[in-house]
Amino acid sequence: MNRKYRKTVIAGNWKMNMLASEIKPFMEQLKENLPKVRTCEMVLCTPAVMLPAMIKAGKDCKVAAGGQDVSRYEKGAYTGEVSASQLADIGAKYCIVGHSERRQYHGEDDMLINAKVKALLGKGIMPIICVGESLEQREMNLTMEYVAYQVKAALSGVDASQLRRCIIAYEPIWAIGTGKTATAGQAQEVCQGIRAVIRGIYGARPARAVSILYGGSMNARNAYELLAQPDIDGGLIGGASLKPVDFSEIIKATNQE
Ligand code: PEP
Repeated sequence: MNRKYRKTVIAGNWKMNMLASEIKPFMEQLKENLPKVRTCEMVLCTPAVMLPAMIKAGKDCKVAAGGQDVSRYEKGAYTGEVSASQLADIGAKYCIVGHSERRQYHGEDDMLINAKVKALLGKGIMPIICVGESLEQREMNLTMEYVAYQVKAALSGVDASQLRRCIIAYEPIWAIGTGKTATAGQAQEVCQGIRAVIRGIYGARPARAVSILYGGSMNARNAYELLAQPDIDGGLIGGASLKPVDFSEIIKATNQE
């Protein structure tokens, strides 16, 4: 982390878990365990139907709400989709884009992800752009090449003032939901590489200011070491974000110099 230049963000991705009725008890437990001094921005990304309940319950603990996906389209005959205007209208501040589960199960490609990033930016929602390699790509030494391509594609046509509202999440696919975490060194290497890619496009200042998160089996035990890395500015957390105590421990791990 480098709090002098950028925001630290701990974002939970609830995926298709939890019920609206479970949000209040979750928040009460989270509140009990949160540190007095907040050293990060806290976000919970819920299924769209649960966002109103999350926004209401999150106010007390200053937890921002985020979506997990958005339509590339503004409005119209797109049954089942949720637009960026609709997310903004109910008060979502963030939205995950390009999660590997969307890429894998819904065939999302980099062009579509770029369109979604722009749709969100157009409505003032901060995209959390997920990138990351498969195990096969890592073993073939293609990690940085592939991740650099994903970052460039997602940010294509995004200008420097819009970049300030983007968050990148490096999520190696082989570490998501598997219990296998990238070592702090592996995660730092790729996050540093992502910053270098951004520097190459936008220059040193914008690159220094962009928050880059790590995601992939981050938990209360490994968070401190991961967050101690200079280019890891927070976490995108799946499983551990479903347990208020574990989530709060990760939040506490941002309190380091
Ligand atoms: C995720 O889905 O973004 C994620 C990082 O999941 P987990 O923490 O469970 O690996």
